[in-house]
Amino acid sequence: MTTTDPGARPLPEGLHPDTLAVRTGIAPSAYGESSEALYLTSGFVQPDADTSARRFAHPEQGYTYSRTGNPSVTAFERRLAALEGAEAAIGTASGMAAILLMGLGLLKSGDHVVCSRSMFGSTLRLLGQEFARFGVETSFVSQTDVAEWRAAVRPGTRLLFAETPTNPLTEVCDIAALAAIAHGVGARLAVDNCFATPVLQRPLALGADLVIHSGTKFLDGQGRVMAGAICGSRELIEGVFAPLMRTAGMVLAPFNAWVVHKGMETLAVRVRAQSDHALTLARWLERHPAVERVFYPGLPSHPQHALAMAQQAGVGGAVLAFSVRADAPEQARARAFHVIDSTRVCSIATNLGDVKTLICHPASTSHGRLSEDQRQAAGVVQGLIRLAVGLEHPGDIQDDLARGLDGCRNTT
Ligand SMILES: *Cc1c(COP(=O)(O)O)cnc(C)c1O
Repeated sequence: MTTTDPGARPLPEGLHPDTLAVRTGIAPSAYGESSEALYLTSGFVQPDADTSARRFAHPEQGYTYSRTGNPSVTAFERRLAALEGAEAAIGTASGMAAILLMGLGLLKSGDHVVCSRSMFGSTLRLLGQEFARFGVETSFVSQTDVAEWRAAVRPGTRLLFAETPTNPLTEVCDIAALAAIAHGVGARLAVDNCFATPVLQRPLALGADLVIHSGTKFLDGQGRVMAGAICGSRELIEGVFAPLMRTAGMVLAPFNAWVVHKGMETLAVRVRAQSDHALTLARWLERHPAVERVFYPGLPSHPQHALAMAQQAGVGGAVLAFSVRADAPEQARARAFHVIDSTRVCSIATNLGDVKTLICHPASTSHGRLSEDQRQAAGVVQGLIRLAVGLEHPGDIQDDLARGLDGCRNTT
C-alpha cells in the first residue's frame, strides 16, 4: 500500500540493500521521532466528510481502518519490498496467511499448481488438502530434478511454487530454470524465501514473479512475533492481493509489523554472522566420527553446492542438518535424542531464524505425521538432527553438541 508520507525527505536512488534495510519505511510524525512510531490503532479520524469519502474510494490516498491499511504495516511492507527488489509488498498475519492469500488471489477451480515435495509441511497440507477441496489440483515433484517440473506443467498450470533451501535437508532448486518453465506455459513462479532471506538470495532478480515470506523467522530474528508477506509487482500486490486482503482480513497486526520492521535493521549482519557460525559447525560436524552425514549448502559435499553458491551470494545460510551413525533406526533415534538431550545451550525447538540456536528431531516433530515410508522417501531418517544456528559463540555450540556426540560411540 503506497500512501504518500507528509513531509518525507525522499531517499536518493541506488542505495545498497544494507542501507535500505535501515532507512526505508515511513516518515516521522509531526513529533519527529527518530525510531519509527508504532501506530497501535484500529481506526483513523478523518479531517472532514469529503476526505473520508475519498479515502474510502481510494484506500491508497489515506488511512481509514487498519484492516485496509496502517502506517506501521506500510513501513514493514516498504522495507521488505526494498530488500527483495520488489515494486511492492503486502504484509499478512503469518507466513501461511501469505501463501493462503497468494492462492486465493491467483487460483480458481480447475487450475493446476506444481510444487516441490520438500516444501514446508503446512504448505504441502494447504495445497494438497485444502486447495484441493476447491478444485485446485497440485502436482508434487522433486525439489532438485528440473526435468520433473518440466514434465508436470500443462496448459492449465497457473503457478509453480518453490522453496530453497528446504527444511530440514537444505535441498536447493534452480530458481532461474523454474522461472523459465513457468513462463513457458504462461504460469507464475513464486518462491518462499524464508531460509535464505533477501540478504543471500533475491528470487525476483532470478526471474521469479512473487516472493513469499514468513516474517516470523529471520526477518524478526528474535523469535517474538508472527508475520508474513508477499512481494511482487505493483500490478499484482495493489491490483489483486490488496483488494482481496481488505475483504479477507488476514492482516498483519501493527505491533507485529513494527517489531519485524525494526528486526530487519539487523537482518544482514545477523544472517551473515549466523551463516558463518553454521559453516564452522558444519565443517566440524563433518569430521566428527559419530556423524554419518552433514547437510549444508556451504559444504562442497552438498549435492547442489555449486548452484547454492551461485544463487545464494556464496553463503550456505544459517540452517543445517546432520545424521548420527547407527546400526538400526531405533538406535539412530535413541542417539539423536541423546545428542539433543545432552545440550545445555541450544534450545529444543522446531522454529528457526532466531539469534538463539535451536535444535530439533525432524522425524518426530515437523515430519512426525508422515508414515515411516514417507519419511524414508523424504530422507528424514530417525538419526537426523536439525540445527538452526544462532549468534552464540560457535565454540560453545560445538561443545554443546560434542557432549552428546562423544558419548554416542559407547551408548547403544
Ligand atoms: C515457518 C515457515 C512458513 C510458515 O510461516 P508462519 O509464519 O509460521 O505461518 C512457511 N515457509 C517456511 C519455509 C517456513 O519455515
